[in-house]
Amino acid sequence: MKTKIINIENLDDAALRELAAAAVFIKAGGTVVFPTETVYGLGADALNPEAIKKIFVAKGRPDDNPLIVHIAALDEVAPLVANIPKKAQRLMQVFWPGPLTIIMNKAATIPTELTGGLDTVGVRFPDHPIAQAFIKMAGCPIAAPSANRSGRPSPTQGKHVLLDLDGRVDAMILSADTELGLESTVIDLTVEPPVVLRPGDVTLAELRAVLGEVAVSAHVTDNVVPEKVSSPGMKYTHYSPQGELVVVKGTPAEIREKITKALSHHKGKPMTIGVLASDETMDFYHEGLIISLGSRNDPKEMSKNLFSRLRTFDELGVEKIYVEDIPLNNETLALINRLYKAAGYAFI
Ligand code: AMP
Ligand code: MG
Repeated sequence: MKTKIINIENLDDAALRELAAAAVFIKAGGTVVFPTETVYGLGADALNPEAIKKIFVAKGRPDDNPLIVHIAALDEVAPLVANIPKKAQRLMQVFWPGPLTIIMNKAATIPTELTGGLDTVGVRFPDHPIAQAFIKMAGCPIAAPSANRSGRPSPTQGKHVLLDLDGRVDAMILSADTELGLESTVIDLTVEPPVVLRPGDVTLAELRAVLGEVAVSAHVTDNVVPEKVSSPGMKYTHYSPQGELVVVKGTPAEIREKITKALSHHKGKPMTIGVLASDETMDFYHEGLIISLGSRNDPKEMSKNLFSRLRTFDELGVEKIYVEDIPLNNETLALINRLYKAAGYAFI
């Protein structure tokens, strides 16, 4: 199919006309990529099962992996869910619009194609002017997973979306690079205490400040404590670059030594090697393609850059990438979760 490409810098009158034209595709049961503050999303009418199936086909996504529903006004939540828990109302007041997806029991009208057969639904109100305007114009809630081919790093720039989905969707609304760079925090409010299923920019500490007790899914904790992962490997691989990614663990001095040694082994061999370092450490290394993830003192910057840096290694044809481990804290949990998954739990 021919994909209509729409470039928007500012939401002026011309842009609004273009958005209205893209919204027609959604109303007709088609697929449209649009920017949000987290990553680009691949949208379709959340209440139309045929439209939802097109998302799974375009991404190559397993059909038991549920989609998040995006809305652009608080009163759009009620028709999607069986009831709105008190805790959900508090979270909406504090964090919406923003990078938080709230899982609630679904309304009967929500197609099971959307929820992967579950009785629950994830809802998010994105904090992005183009996303909001587009959802309003479409006139329906929009199901939207990340706009990448399944298994690839999520797209934070228009060129990533083009590379993965050009010719596979009806239209793409391309704009500036996404502000946060990691997907939304997902919290399940259908259980007590609530459970974080996926960490994101809204941190555990922020959620606990509003709700009190909040648990974290074993999938997340096992992920950052790799000793606990029972069967590491391909099963968990996600967000992955084409090159082989290895996380290098240890003290800062050990990490530097391990990477330097690894690079020396590759010297003279016809293989393209890369290192994902930081502003503070990139000068340590003298072989291969050295790229900084950002400053160690700025987890938000590193988070924003992670997926695009992984794709940069792909663009440069890097076959093996050593990445420095990142110290775990409240602000780095989401970043580490994505990084370790991208590496398929390969550590040295
Ligand atoms: P993506 O759309 O690529 O950001 O992925 C959506 C994420 O939200 C996946 O990790 C899903 O498993 C999760 N998700 C969406 N809806 C639900 C739900 N009803 N229950 C549990 N997880 C969900
Ligand atoms: Mg995704």
